[in-house]
Amino acid sequence: MDCDIASVEPDYRITRLGEDLGVLDFEINPGDLTDEIADIIAGAQSESTGTCVVCADRAWLYRQGDWLVTLCPDHARARGAHPARTDADIAEAVPRPTDRDVAFALSAGVPASAFTAQAEHANRAYLRASAEAEEAELSSWLTATDVACLLGTPTAAVNRLRRQGSLFAGRRRNGRYAYPTWQFDCPNRRPLPGLHAVLAVFAGDHDIVGVSALMTGTWEQLDDLSAAAWLAQGRPIDAVLEALENSEQL
Ligand SMILES: [Zn+2]
Repeated sequence: MDCDIASVEPDYRITRLGEDLGVLDFEINPGDLTDEIADIIAGAQSESTGTCVVCADRAWLYRQGDWLVTLCPDHARARGAHPARTDADIAEAVPRPTDRDVAFALSAGVPASAFTAQAEHANRAYLRASAEAEEAELSSWLTATDVACLLGTPTAAVNRLRRQGSLFAGRRRNGRYAYPTWQFDCPNRRPLPGLHAVLAVFAGDHDIVGVSALMTGTWEQLDDLSAAAWLAQGRPIDAVLEALENSEQL
């Protein structure tokens, strides 16, 4: 991008370069800003929203603690980040102008509708980005056919187990269900011991990727194992239920 701009305005100076809300943040000396340069910056910014900050692979917007970051699904998993998708994510991530900012802007002649329009635009962008992130995550999960093969059962049995709440699945855009691998005791070709009881804790929770993150993240109360690893080792199911029920994230 630097070369692109320099070719238009050789003497331009960068006054700000960084990342804000998962988007490349870049400002140049306003005196140097032409329409052509503005287009180059807008192009790079929209590219940065789809580029992992770690490996530059195709990426989506994730939430890690209080921050929004642009990550590929692999690095999101590695960092324990989950797709930015809930209203709370958006409300915290999108900066709201303070009352004083608004009063000043209004007195300067900015129409009040500009604030609503900007907020709506930001909300739509975040919802779109989070839906993309969820779809990316689910695309790496197992299909019903994969699960049938793993468990050595017909596909109809897999669907029945899902409907009974004995298997965990999310629904992809193509309408098919996707099953994360953490719920299986793969060597023994069966669901994890206690899975049905654990899934009951999440009943009604539609944050599919968030549930997955809770099951694969490590817990101090579980000897620094993930809930999935704990169950796979045949350790007491009650300890997992207790950890999940006390979790602030539920
Ligand atoms: Zn990455």
